Amino acid sequence: MNKTVLCIIDGLGINPNQHGNAVMAADMKNLWGAYEGFPSTNIVASGQEVGLVSEKDAGSSEVGHNAIGAGQRIKQGLALLDDAFESGEVFASDTWKKIVANSKGKKLQIIHLLSNGRTHSDINHLFYTLKQCAKDGLTVSIHALADGRDVTAQSVNRYIKQTRDLIKEYGVNAKIATVTGRAVAFMDRYDSNPQALTTGFEVVVEGKAPITSDIEKSVLEEYAKGQTPTDERLSPFVVEPEWLIKNGETVILLNYRGDRALQTCDLFKNGKYITKEQFKKIDKCMFVGLMEYDSELGIPEMYLCPPPNIENTLSHWLCEKNVRQLTVAETVKYGHITYFFNGNRGKPICDKLEKWIEIDGHKVGAAYDTVPQMRAKEITETVIDAIKSNKYDFIKFNLANPDMVGHTGNMEATVIACKTVDEYIGKMIELCKKEKINFIISSDHGNAEEMLDKNNQPGTTHTANLVPLIVMPFAGNNYKIKEGTFGLTNIAATVCELLGVEVSPHFNEGIIQKN
Ligand SMILES: [Zn+2]
Repeated sequence: MNKTVLCIIDGLGINPNQHGNAVMAADMKNLWGAYEGFPSTNIVASGQEVGLVSEKDAGSSEVGHNAIGAGQRIKQGLALLDDAFESGEVFASDTWKKIVANSKGKKLQIIHLLSNGRTHSDINHLFYTLKQCAKDGLTVSIHALADGRDVTAQSVNRYIKQTRDLIKEYGVNAKIATVTGRAVAFMDRYDSNPQALTTGFEVVVEGKAPITSDIEKSVLEEYAKGQTPTDERLSPFVVEPEWLIKNGETVILLNYRGDRALQTCDLFKNGKYITKEQFKKIDKCMFVGLMEYDSELGIPEMYLCPPPNIENTLSHWLCEKNVRQLTVAETVKYGHITYFFNGNRGKPICDKLEKWIEIDGHKVGAAYDTVPQMRAKEITETVIDAIKSNKYDFIKFNLANPDMVGHTGNMEATVIACKTVDEYIGKMIELCKKEKINFIISSDHGNAEEMLDKNNQPGTTHTANLVPLIVMPFAGNNYKIKEGTFGLTNIAATVCELLGVEVSPHFNEGIIQKN
Protein backbone atom coordinates (compact mmCIF):
# COMPACT_ATOMS: atom_id res chain seq x y z
CA MET A 1 0.00 0.00 0.00
CA ASN A 2 1.26 3.50 -0.84
CA LYS A 3 0.65 5.83 2.07
CA THR A 4 -1.44 8.83 1.12
CA VAL A 5 -2.38 12.11 2.79
CA LEU A 6 -5.38 14.24 1.79
CA CYS A 7 -5.56 17.90 2.77
CA ILE A 8 -8.90 19.64 2.44
CA ILE A 9 -8.36 23.38 2.47
CA ASP A 10 -11.71 24.75 3.56
CA GLY A 11 -13.18 27.56 1.47
CA LEU A 12 -10.50 28.04 -1.19
CA GLY A 13 -11.71 28.37 -4.77
CA ILE A 14 -10.33 29.46 -8.10
CA ASN A 15 -11.18 32.97 -9.24
CA PRO A 16 -9.25 34.50 -12.14
CA ASN A 17 -10.43 37.94 -11.07
CA GLN A 18 -7.90 39.58 -8.79
CA HIS A 19 -10.32 42.10 -7.31
CA GLY A 20 -11.24 41.14 -3.75
CA ASN A 21 -9.39 37.85 -4.13
CA ALA A 22 -7.67 37.00 -0.84
CA VAL A 23 -6.22 33.78 -2.25
CA MET A 24 -4.35 35.66 -4.99
CA ALA A 25 -3.40 38.48 -2.66
CA ALA A 26 -1.83 35.97 -0.28
CA ASP A 27 0.59 34.85 -2.99
CA MET A 28 0.47 31.18 -1.93
CA LYS A 29 3.82 30.09 -3.35
CA ASN A 30 3.77 26.54 -2.03
CA LEU A 31 0.22 25.83 -3.20
CA TRP A 32 0.62 27.25 -6.68
CA GLY A 33 4.15 25.87 -6.97
CA ALA A 34 2.66 22.41 -6.44
CA TYR A 35 -0.21 23.24 -8.79
CA GLU A 36 2.29 24.05 -11.53
CA GLY A 37 4.75 21.26 -10.76
CA PHE A 38 2.43 18.26 -10.35
CA PRO A 39 -0.69 16.81 -11.98
CA SER A 40 -3.40 19.29 -11.14
CA THR A 41 -6.76 20.55 -12.32
CA ASN A 42 -9.80 22.53 -11.18
CA ILE A 43 -12.84 20.57 -10.07
CA VAL A 44 -16.52 21.27 -9.40
CA ALA A 45 -17.55 21.73 -5.75
CA SER A 46 -21.04 23.19 -6.17
CA GLY A 47 -24.46 22.48 -7.66
CA GLN A 48 -25.50 18.99 -8.69
CA GLU A 49 -22.02 17.60 -8.15
CA VAL A 50 -22.61 17.96 -4.41
CA GLY A 51 -26.29 17.01 -4.59
CA LEU A 52 -27.73 20.53 -4.72
CA VAL A 53 -30.53 21.55 -6.99
CA SER A 54 -29.10 24.19 -9.30
CA GLU A 55 -25.65 24.68 -10.78
CA LYS A 56 -25.69 28.13 -9.22
CA ASP A 57 -25.99 26.71 -5.69
CA ALA A 58 -22.72 27.32 -3.87
CA GLY A 59 -21.34 24.37 -1.97
CA SER A 60 -20.90 24.16 1.77
CA SER A 61 -18.63 22.28 4.09
CA GLU A 62 -21.41 19.81 4.86
CA VAL A 63 -22.30 18.83 1.32
CA GLY A 64 -18.66 19.18 0.23
CA HIS A 65 -17.38 16.75 2.83
CA ASN A 66 -20.40 14.49 2.18
CA ALA A 67 -19.46 14.42 -1.52
CA ILE A 68 -15.73 13.82 -0.97
CA GLY A 69 -16.46 11.10 1.58
CA ALA A 70 -19.21 9.47 -0.46
CA GLY A 71 -17.31 9.37 -3.75
CA GLN A 72 -20.68 9.50 -5.49
CA ARG A 73 -23.39 12.06 -6.08
CA ILE A 74 -25.89 12.11 -3.23
CA LYS A 75 -29.20 13.93 -3.38
CA GLN A 76 -28.72 16.43 -0.59
CA GLY A 77 -30.90 17.83 2.11
CA LEU A 78 -32.15 20.70 0.05
CA ALA A 79 -32.89 18.68 -3.06
CA LEU A 80 -34.77 16.18 -0.90
CA LEU A 81 -36.62 18.93 0.90
CA ASP A 82 -37.56 20.79 -2.26
CA ASP A 83 -39.13 17.56 -3.56
CA ALA A 84 -40.90 16.86 -0.27
CA PHE A 85 -42.40 20.36 -0.07
CA GLU A 86 -43.30 20.53 -3.74
CA SER A 87 -44.98 17.12 -3.78
CA GLY A 88 -46.79 17.88 -0.52
CA GLU A 89 -45.15 14.85 1.12
CA VAL A 90 -44.18 16.99 4.12
CA PHE A 91 -47.81 17.87 4.81
CA ALA A 92 -49.04 14.31 4.31
CA SER A 93 -46.78 13.09 7.11
CA ASP A 94 -47.90 11.97 10.56
CA THR A 95 -45.72 14.71 12.01
CA TRP A 96 -47.69 17.38 10.19
CA LYS A 97 -50.97 15.84 11.37
CA LYS A 98 -49.72 16.06 14.96
CA ILE A 99 -48.69 19.67 14.38
CA VAL A 100 -52.14 20.56 13.08
CA ALA A 101 -53.84 18.78 15.98
CA ASN A 102 -51.68 20.59 18.51
CA SER A 103 -52.16 23.99 16.89
CA LYS A 104 -55.95 24.21 16.94
CA GLY A 105 -56.86 27.22 19.06
CA LYS A 106 -53.19 28.02 19.56
CA LYS A 107 -50.52 29.63 17.44
CA LEU A 108 -48.09 27.61 15.39
CA GLN A 109 -44.67 29.14 16.11
CA ILE A 110 -42.03 29.02 13.37
CA ILE A 111 -38.38 29.97 13.84
CA HIS A 112 -36.78 30.45 10.43
CA LEU A 113 -33.68 31.94 8.86
CA LEU A 114 -35.57 34.29 6.58
CA SER A 115 -33.59 34.18 3.35
CA ASN A 116 -32.98 32.19 0.21
CA GLY A 117 -29.32 31.61 1.06
CA ARG A 118 -30.02 27.87 0.92
CA THR A 119 -27.18 27.00 3.26
CA HIS A 120 -29.34 26.67 6.37
CA SER A 121 -32.80 27.37 5.06
CA ASP A 122 -34.91 28.32 2.08
CA ILE A 123 -37.65 30.91 2.42
CA ASN A 124 -39.70 28.90 -0.09
CA HIS A 125 -40.11 26.18 2.53
CA LEU A 126 -41.72 28.80 4.76
CA PHE A 127 -43.98 29.87 1.93
CA TYR A 128 -45.12 26.29 1.24
CA THR A 129 -45.82 25.95 4.97
CA LEU A 130 -47.82 29.19 5.11
CA LYS A 131 -49.88 28.06 2.14
CA GLN A 132 -50.64 24.76 3.88
CA CYS A 133 -51.48 26.59 7.13
CA ALA A 134 -54.06 28.61 5.21
CA LYS A 135 -55.67 25.33 4.10
CA ASP A 136 -55.53 23.85 7.60
CA GLY A 137 -56.82 27.04 9.21
CA LEU A 138 -53.79 27.54 11.45
CA THR A 139 -52.57 30.80 12.96
CA VAL A 140 -48.84 31.25 12.42
CA SER A 141 -46.32 33.36 14.27
CA ILE A 142 -42.97 33.75 12.53
CA HIS A 143 -39.72 34.45 14.35
CA ALA A 144 -37.46 35.68 11.60
CA LEU A 145 -33.71 35.36 11.85
CA ALA A 146 -31.98 37.90 9.62
CA ASP A 147 -29.27 36.32 7.46
CA GLY A 148 -26.73 38.65 5.82
CA ARG A 149 -24.21 35.84 5.64
CA ASP A 150 -25.44 33.41 3.01
CA VAL A 151 -27.09 36.32 1.17
CA THR A 152 -26.26 40.00 0.66
CA ALA A 153 -25.14 41.62 3.91
CA GLN A 154 -28.11 44.00 4.26
CA SER A 155 -31.12 42.38 2.64
CA VAL A 156 -33.55 41.31 5.37
CA ASN A 157 -36.18 43.92 4.50
CA ARG A 158 -36.56 42.37 1.08
CA TYR A 159 -37.43 39.01 2.65
CA ILE A 160 -39.78 40.59 5.19
CA LYS A 161 -41.70 42.26 2.39
CA GLN A 162 -41.84 39.09 0.33
CA THR A 163 -43.21 37.16 3.32
CA ARG A 164 -45.86 39.75 4.10
CA ASP A 165 -46.98 39.90 0.48
CA LEU A 166 -47.45 36.15 0.38
CA ILE A 167 -49.26 36.06 3.73
CA LYS A 168 -51.78 38.43 2.16
CA GLU A 169 -51.97 36.46 -1.07
CA TYR A 170 -52.55 33.12 0.72
CA GLY A 171 -55.02 34.65 3.15
CA VAL A 172 -53.30 32.93 6.05
CA ASN A 173 -53.59 34.32 9.56
CA ALA A 174 -49.86 34.87 10.05
CA LYS A 175 -47.55 37.57 11.34
CA ILE A 176 -43.85 38.18 11.69
CA ALA A 177 -43.57 38.38 15.48
CA THR A 178 -39.87 39.00 16.05
CA VAL A 179 -36.78 39.76 13.96
CA THR A 180 -33.18 39.19 15.12
CA GLY A 181 -29.78 38.66 13.49
CA ARG A 182 -28.86 34.99 13.20
CA ALA A 183 -25.58 35.42 15.09
CA VAL A 184 -27.39 37.27 17.88
CA ALA A 185 -30.16 34.71 18.34
CA PHE A 186 -30.14 30.91 18.01
CA MET A 187 -27.73 30.20 15.17
CA ASP A 188 -24.59 29.52 17.13
CA ARG A 189 -22.63 26.35 16.48
CA TYR A 190 -20.47 24.14 18.67
CA ASP A 191 -21.33 26.33 21.67
CA SER A 192 -18.86 29.02 20.68
CA ASN A 193 -21.40 31.69 21.71
CA PRO A 194 -24.01 30.14 24.04
CA GLN A 195 -25.39 33.61 24.74
CA ALA A 196 -27.04 33.48 21.31
CA LEU A 197 -29.34 30.74 22.58
CA THR A 198 -30.19 32.60 25.77
CA THR A 199 -30.88 35.75 23.79
CA GLY A 200 -32.99 33.81 21.32
CA PHE A 201 -35.16 32.49 24.13
CA GLU A 202 -35.48 35.92 25.74
CA VAL A 203 -36.66 37.40 22.45
CA VAL A 204 -39.11 34.80 21.16
CA VAL A 205 -40.56 33.76 24.53
CA GLU A 206 -40.06 36.71 26.89
CA GLY A 207 -40.14 39.52 24.35
CA LYS A 208 -37.03 41.15 25.80
CA ALA A 209 -36.31 43.55 22.96
CA PRO A 210 -37.50 46.95 21.74
CA ILE A 211 -41.01 46.84 20.29
CA THR A 212 -41.42 48.30 16.84
CA SER A 213 -44.51 48.84 14.75
CA ASP A 214 -42.42 49.41 11.63
CA ILE A 215 -39.74 46.76 11.42
CA GLU A 216 -38.44 47.81 8.02
CA LYS A 217 -37.81 51.31 9.32
CA SER A 218 -36.17 49.99 12.49
CA VAL A 219 -33.81 47.85 10.41
CA LEU A 220 -32.79 50.87 8.32
CA GLU A 221 -32.17 52.84 11.49
CA GLU A 222 -29.91 50.06 12.74
CA TYR A 223 -27.92 50.18 9.50
CA ALA A 224 -27.61 53.96 9.85
CA LYS A 225 -26.06 53.58 13.29
CA GLY A 226 -23.21 51.81 11.52
CA GLN A 227 -22.93 49.04 14.09
CA THR A 228 -24.75 46.48 11.99
CA PRO A 229 -22.52 45.90 8.95
CA THR A 230 -24.44 42.71 8.18
CA ASP A 231 -27.91 41.44 9.04
CA GLU A 232 -26.22 38.58 10.87
CA ARG A 233 -25.62 40.95 13.77
CA LEU A 234 -28.98 42.78 13.72
CA SER A 235 -30.20 43.49 17.25
CA PRO A 236 -33.53 41.94 18.24
CA PHE A 237 -36.95 43.51 17.67
CA VAL A 238 -40.40 42.46 18.80
CA VAL A 239 -43.03 43.31 16.21
CA GLU A 240 -46.05 41.52 17.71
CA PRO A 241 -45.83 41.31 21.52
CA GLU A 242 -49.02 39.20 21.65
CA TRP A 243 -47.61 36.58 19.29
CA LEU A 244 -44.63 35.33 21.33
CA ILE A 245 -44.19 31.63 22.12
CA LYS A 246 -46.42 30.30 24.90
CA ASN A 247 -46.09 27.02 26.72
CA GLY A 248 -47.79 24.09 25.02
CA GLU A 249 -47.63 25.56 21.53
CA THR A 250 -45.91 23.86 18.61
CA VAL A 251 -42.50 25.30 17.72
CA ILE A 252 -41.03 24.41 14.32
CA LEU A 253 -37.42 25.18 13.56
CA LEU A 254 -37.69 25.56 9.79
CA ASN A 255 -33.95 25.43 9.10
CA TYR A 256 -32.50 22.29 7.64
CA ARG A 257 -28.82 22.15 8.48
CA GLY A 258 -27.82 20.47 11.71
CA ASP A 259 -24.75 22.29 12.95
CA ARG A 260 -26.58 25.42 14.09
CA ALA A 261 -29.88 23.68 14.81
CA LEU A 262 -28.85 21.21 17.50
CA GLN A 263 -28.44 23.93 20.12
CA THR A 264 -31.97 25.19 19.57
CA CYS A 265 -33.23 21.61 19.98
CA ASP A 266 -31.34 21.37 23.25
CA LEU A 267 -32.86 24.64 24.44
CA PHE A 268 -36.46 23.61 23.77
CA LYS A 269 -36.06 19.98 24.80
CA ASN A 270 -33.84 20.27 27.87
CA GLY A 271 -33.78 23.91 28.86
CA LYS A 272 -30.07 24.23 28.18
CA TYR A 273 -28.84 27.86 28.07
CA ILE A 274 -31.72 29.10 30.29
CA THR A 275 -32.69 28.93 33.97
CA LYS A 276 -35.12 26.38 35.41
CA GLU A 277 -37.68 29.14 35.87
CA GLN A 278 -37.35 30.14 32.24
CA PHE A 279 -37.65 26.55 31.06
CA LYS A 280 -41.06 26.32 32.78
CA LYS A 281 -42.30 28.74 30.11
CA ILE A 282 -41.62 26.28 27.25
CA ASP A 283 -41.32 22.82 28.78
CA LYS A 284 -44.65 21.67 27.35
CA CYS A 285 -44.06 22.95 23.82
CA MET A 286 -44.08 20.44 20.98
CA PHE A 287 -40.74 20.99 19.27
CA VAL A 288 -40.30 19.94 15.64
CA GLY A 289 -37.22 20.26 13.41
CA LEU A 290 -37.29 20.51 9.64
CA MET A 291 -34.94 17.54 9.53
CA GLU A 292 -33.35 15.09 11.91
CA TYR A 293 -30.23 17.05 12.75
CA ASP A 294 -28.32 14.23 14.46
CA SER A 295 -29.19 10.74 13.33
CA GLU A 296 -26.95 9.05 15.91
CA LEU A 297 -28.58 10.75 18.88
CA GLY A 298 -32.02 11.04 17.32
CA ILE A 299 -32.33 14.82 17.67
CA PRO A 300 -34.95 16.16 17.48
CA GLU A 301 -37.54 13.49 18.21
CA MET A 302 -40.00 15.03 15.75
CA TYR A 303 -39.02 16.29 12.31
CA LEU A 304 -40.73 17.03 9.04
CA CYS A 305 -38.41 15.34 6.55
CA PRO A 306 -36.18 12.25 6.96
CA PRO A 307 -32.39 12.74 6.53
CA PRO A 308 -30.24 11.55 3.64
CA ASN A 309 -28.71 8.19 4.31
CA ILE A 310 -25.30 7.81 2.72
CA GLU A 311 -23.96 4.27 2.40
CA ASN A 312 -20.76 2.93 0.85
CA THR A 313 -18.53 5.89 1.74
CA LEU A 314 -14.76 6.01 1.35
CA SER A 315 -14.34 5.27 5.06
CA HIS A 316 -16.60 2.19 4.76
CA TRP A 317 -14.54 0.98 1.82
CA LEU A 318 -11.14 1.62 3.38
CA CYS A 319 -12.22 -0.17 6.56
CA GLU A 320 -13.25 -3.13 4.43
CA LYS A 321 -9.83 -3.02 2.77
CA ASN A 322 -8.03 -2.89 6.13
CA VAL A 323 -6.59 0.59 5.57
CA ARG A 324 -5.48 2.35 8.79
CA GLN A 325 -6.95 5.85 8.80
CA LEU A 326 -6.47 9.04 10.75
CA THR A 327 -8.55 12.22 10.59
CA VAL A 328 -7.43 15.55 12.08
CA ALA A 329 -9.25 18.90 12.23
CA GLU A 330 -9.91 21.73 14.61
CA THR A 331 -13.23 22.02 16.42
CA VAL A 332 -15.08 24.22 13.94
CA LYS A 333 -14.59 21.74 11.05
CA TYR A 334 -14.15 18.54 13.03
CA GLY A 335 -17.74 17.47 12.40
CA HIS A 336 -17.31 18.02 8.69
CA ILE A 337 -14.34 15.78 8.09
CA THR A 338 -15.68 13.10 10.46
CA TYR A 339 -19.51 13.07 10.65
CA PHE A 340 -20.24 14.45 7.19
CA PHE A 341 -17.31 12.66 5.52
CA ASN A 342 -18.58 9.35 6.91
CA GLY A 343 -22.05 9.78 5.41
CA ASN A 344 -23.60 11.57 8.40
CA ARG A 345 -22.35 9.25 11.11
CA GLY A 346 -21.14 10.44 14.48
CA LYS A 347 -18.74 7.54 15.05
CA PRO A 348 -15.93 5.89 13.08
CA ILE A 349 -17.13 3.11 10.79
CA CYS A 350 -14.55 0.83 12.39
CA ASP A 351 -12.94 1.74 15.72
CA LYS A 352 -9.93 -0.45 15.09
CA LEU A 353 -8.93 1.18 11.81
CA GLU A 354 -10.24 4.73 12.07
CA LYS A 355 -8.97 7.33 14.49
CA TRP A 356 -10.28 10.90 14.83
CA ILE A 357 -8.35 13.72 16.50
CA GLU A 358 -9.99 17.03 17.33
CA ILE A 359 -7.70 20.01 17.91
CA ASP A 360 -9.38 22.43 20.31
CA GLY A 361 -10.28 25.59 18.41
CA HIS A 362 -10.21 29.21 19.60
CA LYS A 363 -13.34 30.31 21.44
CA VAL A 364 -13.94 33.52 19.51
CA GLY A 365 -17.54 33.11 18.36
CA ALA A 366 -17.61 34.00 14.68
CA ALA A 367 -14.70 36.46 15.00
CA TYR A 368 -12.06 34.31 13.34
CA ASP A 369 -10.51 37.41 11.82
CA THR A 370 -9.00 37.99 15.28
CA VAL A 371 -7.14 34.64 15.03
CA PRO A 372 -6.52 34.11 11.28
CA GLN A 373 -3.81 31.53 11.97
CA MET A 374 -6.42 29.45 13.79
CA ARG A 375 -4.97 25.99 14.63
CA ALA A 376 -3.16 25.32 11.34
CA LYS A 377 0.13 24.82 13.16
CA GLU A 378 -1.23 22.36 15.72
CA ILE A 379 -3.13 20.40 13.07
CA THR A 380 -0.10 20.10 10.81
CA GLU A 381 2.15 19.10 13.71
CA THR A 382 -0.34 16.39 14.66
CA VAL A 383 -0.36 15.10 11.09
CA ILE A 384 3.43 15.18 10.91
CA ASP A 385 3.71 13.22 14.17
CA ALA A 386 1.20 10.72 12.82
CA ILE A 387 3.19 10.26 9.61
CA LYS A 388 6.34 9.69 11.61
CA SER A 389 4.55 7.19 13.88
CA ASN A 390 4.05 4.94 10.87
CA LYS A 391 0.66 3.91 12.24
CA TYR A 392 -1.55 5.11 9.38
CA ASP A 393 -1.95 4.40 5.68
CA PHE A 394 -4.40 7.19 4.90
CA ILE A 395 -4.44 10.50 6.74
CA LYS A 396 -6.88 13.31 6.01
CA PHE A 397 -6.96 16.73 7.58
CA ASN A 398 -8.83 20.00 7.19
CA LEU A 399 -7.37 23.50 7.28
CA ALA A 400 -10.31 25.78 8.02
CA ASN A 401 -8.68 29.21 7.79
CA PRO A 402 -9.78 30.52 4.37
CA ASP A 403 -13.40 29.62 5.07
CA MET A 404 -13.80 30.72 8.67
CA VAL A 405 -11.85 33.94 8.25
CA GLY A 406 -13.42 34.49 4.82
CA HIS A 407 -16.85 34.46 6.48
CA THR A 408 -15.97 37.57 8.48
CA GLY A 409 -15.62 39.58 5.27
CA ASN A 410 -12.27 40.87 6.54
CA MET A 411 -9.95 40.88 3.50
CA GLU A 412 -6.75 41.60 5.37
CA ALA A 413 -7.29 38.81 7.88
CA THR A 414 -8.31 36.38 5.13
CA VAL A 415 -5.04 37.07 3.32
CA ILE A 416 -3.22 36.12 6.53
CA ALA A 417 -5.42 33.02 6.77
CA CYS A 418 -4.36 31.95 3.26
CA LYS A 419 -0.70 32.74 3.91
CA THR A 420 -0.88 30.61 7.05
CA VAL A 421 -2.33 27.68 5.14
CA ASP A 422 0.37 28.04 2.53
CA GLU A 423 3.12 27.93 5.13
CA TYR A 424 1.87 24.60 6.50
CA ILE A 425 1.15 23.17 3.08
CA GLY A 426 4.81 23.87 2.38
CA LYS A 427 5.88 21.89 5.42
CA MET A 428 3.62 19.00 4.46
CA ILE A 429 4.92 18.88 0.90
CA GLU A 430 8.49 18.80 2.18
CA LEU A 431 7.80 15.96 4.61
CA CYS A 432 5.68 13.89 2.20
CA LYS A 433 8.39 14.18 -0.43
CA LYS A 434 11.04 13.06 2.03
CA GLU A 435 8.93 10.17 3.35
CA LYS A 436 7.71 9.18 -0.16
CA ILE A 437 4.06 9.63 0.79
CA ASN A 438 1.42 10.68 -1.75
CA PHE A 439 -0.10 14.05 -1.00
CA ILE A 440 -3.40 15.35 -2.42
CA ILE A 441 -4.70 18.85 -1.88
CA SER A 442 -8.21 20.01 -2.64
CA SER A 443 -10.97 22.14 -1.14
CA ASP A 444 -14.61 21.60 -0.21
CA HIS A 445 -15.95 24.84 -1.76
CA GLY A 446 -14.96 28.42 -2.56
CA ASN A 447 -15.02 31.44 -0.25
CA ALA A 448 -11.75 33.35 0.27
CA GLU A 449 -11.15 33.88 -3.45
CA GLU A 450 -14.19 36.17 -3.62
CA MET A 451 -14.25 38.63 -0.74
CA LEU A 452 -16.41 41.25 -2.47
CA ASP A 453 -19.88 40.66 -3.85
CA LYS A 454 -21.38 42.13 -7.03
CA ASN A 455 -22.13 45.39 -5.24
CA ASN A 456 -18.59 45.64 -3.89
CA GLN A 457 -19.85 44.81 -0.41
CA PRO A 458 -17.85 42.43 1.78
CA GLY A 459 -18.60 38.93 0.49
CA THR A 460 -19.06 36.65 3.47
CA THR A 461 -20.55 33.67 1.68
CA HIS A 462 -19.44 30.48 -0.01
CA THR A 463 -19.04 30.60 -3.77
CA ALA A 464 -19.84 28.23 -6.62
CA ASN A 465 -16.32 28.57 -8.03
CA LEU A 466 -14.18 25.59 -9.01
CA VAL A 467 -11.62 24.40 -6.48
CA PRO A 468 -8.08 23.16 -7.06
CA LEU A 469 -7.07 19.52 -7.04
CA ILE A 470 -3.36 18.74 -6.86
CA VAL A 471 -1.91 15.22 -6.84
CA MET A 472 1.66 14.81 -5.64
CA PRO A 473 2.50 11.13 -6.21
CA PHE A 474 5.63 11.06 -4.07
CA ALA A 475 5.29 7.29 -3.53
CA GLY A 476 6.75 6.81 -6.97
CA ASN A 477 4.09 6.23 -9.62
CA ASN A 478 3.78 8.60 -12.53
CA TYR A 479 0.32 10.03 -13.10
CA LYS A 480 -1.43 12.50 -15.32
CA ILE A 481 -4.89 14.05 -15.05
CA LYS A 482 -7.53 12.40 -17.24
CA GLU A 483 -9.45 14.35 -19.85
CA GLY A 484 -12.86 15.55 -18.73
CA THR A 485 -14.73 17.47 -16.10
CA PHE A 486 -14.40 16.27 -12.54
CA GLY A 487 -15.68 17.20 -9.11
CA LEU A 488 -15.49 16.39 -5.43
CA THR A 489 -17.10 12.97 -5.93
CA ASN A 490 -14.09 11.88 -8.01
CA ILE A 491 -11.67 12.31 -5.10
CA ALA A 492 -12.52 9.05 -3.27
CA ALA A 493 -11.57 6.88 -6.25
CA THR A 494 -8.42 8.96 -6.74
CA VAL A 495 -7.45 8.28 -3.13
CA CYS A 496 -7.96 4.53 -3.69
CA GLU A 497 -5.80 4.61 -6.82
CA LEU A 498 -3.00 6.42 -5.00
CA LEU A 499 -3.20 4.02 -2.07
CA GLY A 500 -3.09 1.09 -4.47
CA VAL A 501 -6.46 -0.13 -3.21
CA GLU A 502 -9.10 -1.39 -5.63
CA VAL A 503 -11.71 1.29 -6.38
CA SER A 504 -15.17 0.70 -4.89
CA PRO A 505 -17.80 -0.01 -7.54
CA HIS A 506 -19.95 2.65 -5.84
CA PHE A 507 -17.49 5.46 -6.52
CA ASN A 508 -17.33 7.82 -9.45
CA GLU A 509 -14.12 7.34 -11.44
CA GLY A 510 -10.78 8.74 -10.28
CA ILE A 511 -9.17 11.80 -11.81
CA ILE A 512 -5.70 10.39 -12.52
CA GLN A 513 -4.26 7.76 -14.82
CA LYS A 514 -0.81 6.23 -14.90
CA ASN A 515 1.55 7.80 -17.39
ZN1 LIG B 1 -18.13 28.10 5.51
